[in-house]
Amino acid sequence: MSARAVHGGKPVRERMLPYGRQSLRDEDIRAVVEVLRSDWWTTGPMVDEFEREFARYVGAQHAVAFSSGTAALHGSVFAAHLGPGDEAITTPITFCATSNCVLYLGATPVLADVSCDTLNLDPDEILRCITNRTRAIIPVDYAGHPADLETILAIAEQHGLIVIEDASHALGAEYRGRRIGGYGHMTTFSFHPVKHVATGEGGMVTTNDAALADRLRLFRNHGIASSARARALTAEWHYEMVELGYNYRLTDIASALGLSQLRTIDENVARRQQIARRYHEAFSSGVHLSCPIERQDVISAWHLYPIRLNLDSLRVGRTEIFAALRAETIGVNVHYIPV
Ligand SMILES: *Cc1c(COP(=O)(O)O)cnc(C)c1O
Repeated sequence: MSARAVHGGKPVRERMLPYGRQSLRDEDIRAVVEVLRSDWWTTGPMVDEFEREFARYVGAQHAVAFSSGTAALHGSVFAAHLGPGDEAITTPITFCATSNCVLYLGATPVLADVSCDTLNLDPDEILRCITNRTRAIIPVDYAGHPADLETILAIAEQHGLIVIEDASHALGAEYRGRRIGGYGHMTTFSFHPVKHVATGEGGMVTTNDAALADRLRLFRNHGIASSARARALTAEWHYEMVELGYNYRLTDIASALGLSQLRTIDENVARRQQIARRYHEAFSSGVHLSCPIERQDVISAWHLYPIRLNLDSLRVGRTEIFAALRAETIGVNVHYIPV
């Protein structure tokens, strides 16, 4: 066998295989240029259209666009009325934004353990964490595999809690025959370039609750009760700032890109499934690795393909394997350092 790259051998690839990369079509570019030539660069008609199409795709009644996935999470925790003294139960196996959004409102994230097979929140562990201060559960659809939503929603119902699903990984995934985005009280998405639909920065919250949708819109626009465009259209100058909100608006430029990318989401997910199958075939017989699984009642969106190392059977640790793969120009990453 020839030497590994990490020992001075030739890498298996010439160019670095990036761990994540956006895809771009000519249609995407045309959609963006059209907006650049139009009257509205922000909070215009493209935002409305992106929201409408996104809601239709995931099967929710409302979609509210945000300037990032993190802003979408922040808005959701605000809409859920969390504040100091309140607790939200969430997972440690996620990006830090999931629990940071709880801290932004002065509430406390409580980390419950995950199930061994999916690394998603374990419902029994959620139950163990519930106190009289618990107000919300924030599951993450880790790697694109939907969380155990029906069990989590039943727990929430029983204890009067709100469920904010961080579906940043799971656009296009299905749970029990329905797309992710129409389930929890609020579901959040990210349009960071490594995600399924990319707008540079961007995010979305979907909900079936009109009051929550109103509160989300308020929050992303400084807490002002009407949008500048609505006032322009009705020749109205007066507005009220009724809460303290932020400027978390998504631009029309980004919305046009998102809308255009949304048109290819099913192909995007199908391609990821194909790649996941190839990885299964290549890796699942080895004793040193465990491959991700897909439970019977879901379709994963395969944002990530997380491989776990069986350290008992290996003479090296994660650091050495990471370095060896990077030397081979395989752009792996660690998901995640627990929150
Ligand atoms: C990407 C991501 C976010 C944050 O999204 P941004 O758009 O980068 O702000 C939140 N949660 C999870 C699990 C993510 O992967």
